[in-house]
Amino acid sequence: MRKISVIGAGTMGNGIAHVFAMNGFNVTLVDVSEDALKKAVATVSKNLDRMVAKGSIKEEVKNSTLKNLVTGTTLDACKDSDLVIEAATENSEIKLKIFKQLDELCKKETILASNTSSISITKIAAATNRADKVIGMHFMNPVPVMKLVEIIKGYATSDEVLKTIMELSLKLGKSPVEVNDYPGFVANRILMPMINEAIYTLYEGVAGVEEIDIVMKLGMAHPMGPLQLADFIGLDVCLAILRVLHEGFGNPKYAPCPLLINMVTAGYLGVKTNEGFYNYALGVKDLVVSPRFIK
Ligand code: NAD
Repeated sequence: MRKISVIGAGTMGNGIAHVFAMNGFNVTLVDVSEDALKKAVATVSKNLDRMVAKGSIKEEVKNSTLKNLVTGTTLDACKDSDLVIEAATENSEIKLKIFKQLDELCKKETILASNTSSISITKIAAATNRADKVIGMHFMNPVPVMKLVEIIKGYATSDEVLKTIMELSLKLGKSPVEVNDYPGFVANRILMPMINEAIYTLYEGVAGVEEIDIVMKLGMAHPMGPLQLADFIGLDVCLAILRVLHEGFGNPKYAPCPLLINMVTAGYLGVKTNEGFYNYALGVKDLVVSPRFIK
C-alpha cells in the first residue's frame, strides 16, 4: 500500500495527511475548498517545523514529508489510491455522496475508510458496491500526537480488510483498537455525554466555564477540561455527534443542551472560529473565557 488519499482538509484531514506523508506514503489531500487546502498544507508545514525544533524529527524528514503531499479539488485526484480516508464534514448526506462517487472512481481493490466520529460505517458502506472493503478509521485530534485509532468494523467489513487496516495503523506508530459499529462507537459514546453534561452544568448556572474545567482537570486528572475540549473538537462537530447518538439510540439522555445548539446556530464553534466557551483571538495557549460567559 503506497498511495493514500485523504478527503477533507480541515482539522482532521491535515493531521491524517501529515502522519501518512511522514511515514513515506504518497498522499493526495482533496477538498472542495482551495482555501482549506492552502491552510492545511501551511498547518502541516508549521507542525513539522515544531517537530524539528523539538528534535523529534530531522529537517530532511520535514522536506520528504512535504514532497510526499499533493493536493486536489476533485475526487478524480484519488482514483489510483490503494486506500482513501474520508475526513470531510460530519454530515451523512455529504459522506454518502462521497462514498458513492469513490466506489465508482476507484479500482476494485481500494479500501475506503471513514474518519467519522459517529456516523454508521454500515450505512456508509451500503452506499457502495464494496461494503466488505469499507471500514472506520477514527483518528484522534491532534492526529500527529495522539496514539489511538478506533477501528470500526461495519456489519459487512471483511476480516481481511480489518487485519490490513490494523497492521497499517501499527506501521504508522499508532495503537489501533477494534470496535463494533454502533452510534458513537466507544470514544464518543462516552466522551460526548460528558461534554454535553458539562455544557448543561454551565447552562443551569451550577458553575462558570473555568470552574467546570478546573474541577475535571484537577479532580479527575483530565489534561483538558470538557468545555475547552469541546472548543478544540469544534462545537458543530460535538452537536452533530450528539444528534447521531440521540437519533441512533432514541434515548433522551443524549439530547444536546440548548446552549450548545444556540452557540452553533450563532456560529461560535470554538477554536476554528476563534470563540466558543473561550476566546482564542490571542492564541490557544493563554486561556481567556469568552466575554459572554463572564458574569
Ligand atoms: P472540519 O470542518 O475542520 O473540516 C471538514 C473539511 O471537509 C472542510 O475543509 C470542508 O471544506 C471539507 N469538505 C466538505 N465537503 C466536502 C466534499 N464533498 N469533498 C471534499 N471535502 C469536503 O471537520 P473536522 O473536524 O476535520 O472533521 C472531519 C471528520 O473527522 C468528521 O467526520 C468528524 O466527525 C471527524 N473527527 C473530528 C475530530 C475533531 O476533533 N474535530 C476528531 C475525530 C474525528
